[in-house]
Amino acid sequence: MKIGGWQKFSLIDFPGKIAAVIFTQGCPWRCPWCYNRSLVLSEEFGPSIPEDEVFRFLETRLGQLEGVVITGGEPTFQPDLHNFLEKLRSLEFEVKLDTNGYRPEVVESVIEAGLLDYIAMDVKAPLGKYRQATGRNVIIDKIRCSIDLIRDSGLDHEFRTTFVPGLHTVEDIEEILGLIQGSRRYALQTFQNNNPIQPPPTQANQPASSWRPTQSWLDRNNDHRIGELLYR
Ligand code: SF4
Repeated sequence: MKIGGWQKFSLIDFPGKIAAVIFTQGCPWRCPWCYNRSLVLSEEFGPSIPEDEVFRFLETRLGQLEGVVITGGEPTFQPDLHNFLEKLRSLEFEVKLDTNGYRPEVVESVIEAGLLDYIAMDVKAPLGKYRQATGRNVIIDKIRCSIDLIRDSGLDHEFRTTFVPGLHTVEDIEEILGLIQGSRRYALQTFQNNNPIQPPPTQANQPASSWRPTQSWLDRNNDHRIGELLYR
């Protein structure tokens, strides 16, 4: 795999687990407000980290680290993802995969092979706004397919949206909640204005009444049979 970075210890990326986090290089999308530019824009890629180095470290942490998170970029576009996950499994790590859901065939294959313990999918926007949210013409049926696969997988899972002021509205979040109804967990994340690919609209360009999500709004609006709603 093309590994663009890693974090050797995290308490927040894999719910309930002490985990390492591995960041893959490359993503087919260009979400304007993505702040992982060094994992997305090839001209900003740093040198890849050799897999051997990662596994040598992980072997020294057996019994200390409980899990490994594979995130990106977009990991499902790595041709050897399956093999990498198998190696993690052979070391008996629990595995969490973060994905944008654009390769449902890979999502299905790694779920069916029993290579995951947890899967998290970004739902970028309501389906009608994916072009705007990703900077690409997205085949929407792939997004629907991944949502269905993950929701019906039996795995612990979450869907999540980064709320971008000037892009998302309260109606968008309501539509997303309907799209993922019946799922285990949904998290709304705050946008970090940290050198994104394209800065968000300035405050001056936003309507004065711009809505912002809150935990209490989520608590009041859980009529979609979603197990847990979180505002991070
Ligand atoms: S935010 Fe968008 S562009 Fe950035 S890594 Fe995720 S899917 Fe790719």
